[in-house]
Amino acid sequence: MLLDLDGLAVVRVERLEDGTRRVYLATAGEQARACPACGAFATRVKGWVVTRPRDLPCGERGLELAWRRRRWHCTQPGCARRSFTEQVRQVPAGARITTRLRQAAGRRVRGAGSTVVQAGRDLGLSWPTVMDAFRQVGQEVMTAPPGPVTVLGIDETCRGRRQRRRDPRTGRWEPRAERWHIGFVDATGIQGLLGQVDGRAPQRRAGLAGNHPQALA
Ligand SMILES: [Zn+2]
Repeated sequence: MLLDLDGLAVVRVERLEDGTRRVYLATAGEQARACPACGAFATRVKGWVVTRPRDLPCGERGLELAWRRRRWHCTQPGCARRSFTEQVRQVPAGARITTRLRQAAGRRVRGAGSTVVQAGRDLGLSWPTVMDAFRQVGQEVMTAPPGPVTVLGIDETCRGRRQRRRDPRTGRWEPRAERWHIGFVDATGIQGLLGQVDGRAPQRRAGLAGNHPQALA
């Protein structure tokens, strides 16, 4: 049975009474033995520990993973890390769920229109775990530069009523908060909202365009 969890090999599979498959995993390959601090390959085993990370659902029945992983001593001179537990990309140190389950949870909210609650129910995860996963995959979109835009839509919006407050230092009446903001959208494409800035002065518009020149290419 192939699980596609890089760096892990299936030792055996047990079928529990309720139909759940329990998959026993072992470390495959040498990479997991590299010290995370200095990169040297460890040779002295400190002990063993069994990790049971949650993974994506597999069919109708449940799936349980049990990875027996080693703890290593790092004997490299000068390395501050005395010991470490094996880790692979899909199961980083301290992770209770696989990387692919975390990403699947985040994408359900980001791209599939699911609520955090629903994604949690579907995948058997708690609300904070899904929300955390969503923040992570959301960050990928937030930091990615927008693609080229054929028609840039610029829209000024005013919200709320004008409220002022007296500045205690100058004694002047100042606006309490910026009421105007400008939204920039990909008017004929599929990128949606590209950015939003406070204010309504023309230079604010130029500000965003200047930050993303490729969006106007
Ligand atoms: Zn080390």
